[in-house]
Amino acid sequence: METARRVAVVGGGSVATSYLFHFVEAWEARPGAPSAEVVVYEPRESVGRGGAYDVDLDSNLLNVTAGSMSVAGDDRQHFFRWLKQNGITEFRGEPITMDGFLPRPLFGQYLEEAYRDVLQRAERCGVAIEHRRAAALELERLASGFGVRASDGSRESYDRVVLAIGNLDSIAFPQLKGDPRYFDTPYPVRSLCNAIPSDATVGILGTSLSAIDAIAALAANGHRGLIVCVSRNGRLPCVRGTMNAPTPLRVGFKQWLTAMVETGQRVPLKVLIDRIQEELATYSIQAADLLQLAEVNPDPLRFLEDELRESSSAPRNWQSFGNALNDVVDQLWHLLSPEDRQTFDRTIRPIWMARRVTFPIANARTLARMMQNGQLRVRGGFHDVEKAASTFTVRCEGVRPETFSCDAIVNATSFSCDAARSSVPLLQALLREGSAVADPHGGLQLDFASGGVVTADGTIQRDLTALGSMAAGTYFWTNSMDVNARLAMVQARQHVHAMRHDLSTV
Ligand SMILES: Cc1cc2nc3c(=O)[nH]c(=O)nc-3n(C[C@H](O)[C@H](O)[C@H](O)COP(=O)(O)OP(=O)(O)OC[C@H]3O[C@@H](n4cnc5c(N)ncnc54)[C@H](O)[C@@H]3O)c2cc1C
Repeated sequence: METARRVAVVGGGSVATSYLFHFVEAWEARPGAPSAEVVVYEPRESVGRGGAYDVDLDSNLLNVTAGSMSVAGDDRQHFFRWLKQNGITEFRGEPITMDGFLPRPLFGQYLEEAYRDVLQRAERCGVAIEHRRAAALELERLASGFGVRASDGSRESYDRVVLAIGNLDSIAFPQLKGDPRYFDTPYPVRSLCNAIPSDATVGILGTSLSAIDAIAALAANGHRGLIVCVSRNGRLPCVRGTMNAPTPLRVGFKQWLTAMVETGQRVPLKVLIDRIQEELATYSIQAADLLQLAEVNPDPLRFLEDELRESSSAPRNWQSFGNALNDVVDQLWHLLSPEDRQTFDRTIRPIWMARRVTFPIANARTLARMMQNGQLRVRGGFHDVEKAASTFTVRCEGVRPETFSCDAIVNATSFSCDAARSSVPLLQALLREGSAVADPHGGLQLDFASGGVVTADGTIQRDLTALGSMAAGTYFWTNSMDVNARLAMVQARQHVHAMRHDLSTV
């Protein structure tokens, strides 16, 4: 039987909160139903924030506008209304608008409150939710459901388990781990600021969003030393346009995708590209322009200055299109054959990553100022980093090879979703026992429709599902709150529906 009355949610970050929000909402819609129990395994003190929205400095900005961040998969303005209800109307002396970029810790506060609200609603409709401050270490397959062994010594059985364990620690630079001057992650950025002397030369490995968080935090903390920010391509993300208007995809395109998914057939990459080009044309975007923009590798300061100008002078339609694609990105990915996914990874993913990930203009202005006054160097050609007696040596190759001597190193190459190489006991146990298989594109192999974890012998376990980065290989863009919340909503509704069916047949 695949239905359940006791549910274990492993992880208590934003994705788990979205799941619980929709689980209780779906349960409320069935008055008079018997009770259900949900245990949330989360070692942190509270449920809601997870890693991305943890308590930290306000320089950690959301990279999505306030009007588009939400715990709810079908209500984008839920957060914005919460701000209003709580009288939070200004940030940095400016009125808060739907287009503004707010601190991630503030969004974390909202998530914590959303969870508390879920608890109250759950109680009223017969769902008991408990936060267990422990890590789930192992799952044991039972005749029906799973046993969960946790770090507090408990071992309990559940009819259903939802994995929402978030991003995995970076696996880069193992040779530097343990050195007190090496920071394996920029987070919390407050720790960086406390630990790194303000006149130190700081090497930041990575030039994407996490690197920008580290630079913005050091800048806000009055750092005076040189900051060297390096990666292989030296490419900063694009700047989010300030005049963009949300533009939905055409209904016909969405219907076509849904119909293709329902057929269960693959669609050749070329056919999908053609369909996307048709959509792009309706946004007045030429696909060739996008490709050309991504190919050039300009001087970082000139790139940033161009980005600042373009972001504040006219709407950036390709960014609106990218946002709109979040509604169907999982379907697009699902339609590709394994071979086409490989081709995509080789040829289009780098362009997608370079174009799709954007950052707020306030941080872009900070970076540009620091580059102009020589405090910040951004460059490509990163080759390696080596520990010396009292410093680190960062080597870059290319037309102008350079070596930097740094007092501290920050690994900002982003998190991992590589389950196969993870040292997380829960994942290792699942993979070892064949209860799960690592997906080559990230996370675990899942059934697209249910999110059910697929075993080594190909069985779909609908009572063991995954969300967030452990679903990256199945749904592709699981590093965006709106995509994760939507997928969590779908799963929660499916689970409650299955439980309702179960309860009506006992
Ligand atoms: C730094 C950063 C900034 C981001 N900013 C944005 C943004 O501005 N806008 C946006 O749309 N998206 C953003 N994202 C992307 C996306 O919203 C996040 O990835 C999102 O937080 C993922 O939530 P999660 O709950 O899956 O993971 P997490 O937030 O990592 O939470 C997972 C939780 O699971 C717990 N856990 C892990 N293992 C176990 C275990 N074995 N047992 C019990 N508990 C466990 C952890 O303690 C953690 O609290 C950002 C991501 C990051 C990393």
